Amino acid sequence: IDLSTSDLSGIVADIAEEMKAAPDRGTPAAYIPPLAKVDPAKFGMAVIEADGTCHLAGDAEETFSIQSISKVFALTLALGHVGDQLWKRVGREPSGSAFNSIVQLEFEHGIPRNPFINAGAIVVADILLGRNEPREAIGEMLRFVRTLAGEDDIVIDREVADAEAATGYRNAALASYMRSFGNIHHDVERTLGVYFHACALAMSCRQLALAGRYLMAGGMLPSTGRRIVSAQRARRINALMMTCGHYDGSGEFAFRVGLPGKSGVGGGILAIVPGRASVAVWSPGLNERGNSQLGTLALERLVQRTGWSVFEPA
Ligand code: GLU
Repeated sequence: IDLSTSDLSGIVADIAEEMKAAPDRGTPAAYIPPLAKVDPAKFGMAVIEADGTCHLAGDAEETFSIQSISKVFALTLALGHVGDQLWKRVGREPSGSAFNSIVQLEFEHGIPRNPFINAGAIVVADILLGRNEPREAIGEMLRFVRTLAGEDDIVIDREVADAEAATGYRNAALASYMRSFGNIHHDVERTLGVYFHACALAMSCRQLALAGRYLMAGGMLPSTGRRIVSAQRARRINALMMTCGHYDGSGEFAFRVGLPGKSGVGGGILAIVPGRASVAVWSPGLNERGNSQLGTLALERLVQRTGWSVFEPA
């Protein structure tokens, strides 16, 4: 499909309009009050093309809790710290189980299946902690995301971070269980502190799409020409997003959308069109697998109208 910039603007605007009339918006996460109180009618979409052209629609400038989408940035940063050694502690296979499942950890001796389920992201947080204080590791993570987006006003929502910590029994269980296998190296509270604060990053669709550009651009940060990761590493992170980015709904997302994507329980999804675009959508209502109902639908329509699936012949 030959697309002009104005075609793309029209497509993005049309999709946002269509989402207003969608009959089933899904159900927002309610496990912590700050997520439960978000207006379920919100919908935002941001598409940033390889040349930097930015298309926004709906609530694309409103910040929301990016939650598990932070697992992509945390993984990227942790790979920078320890390189491919990381894969001794975290697997690379889709889990087929819920995001917070503990069962597979027993069979796999405390090695989580992949970095995008909670257990895997908790090990990644443990790596980020390294020899630092949690406060320093959290600061490094925040600076990294600000660099990726090229925006200094991105913040961590303290109310969300505190609520995660106050209710995070399951995550504490995962961390303790992995620690019993020697795969968590710090006190679990310290590691979880890093994990919860990363989940509590607040970003808009526009900021998220900006932050995802390095994955569209073979590891380079387009606006600066600065290399964030090697082309091989960018490709591999995209592969993990495709196979593991939507928990036990990853197969369904690949089937419907066909792009590397990472969702979060706040209702956001970051999707990468290699070489072409970085896309973020947000709608708080979730489907039965915990992925944004309208966010997925919007991406499905975007891909239908642009031919952007990675499975589409060029
Ligand atoms: N803070 C959430 C948790 O750890 C993140 C889950 C998600 O976005 O899937 O339970």
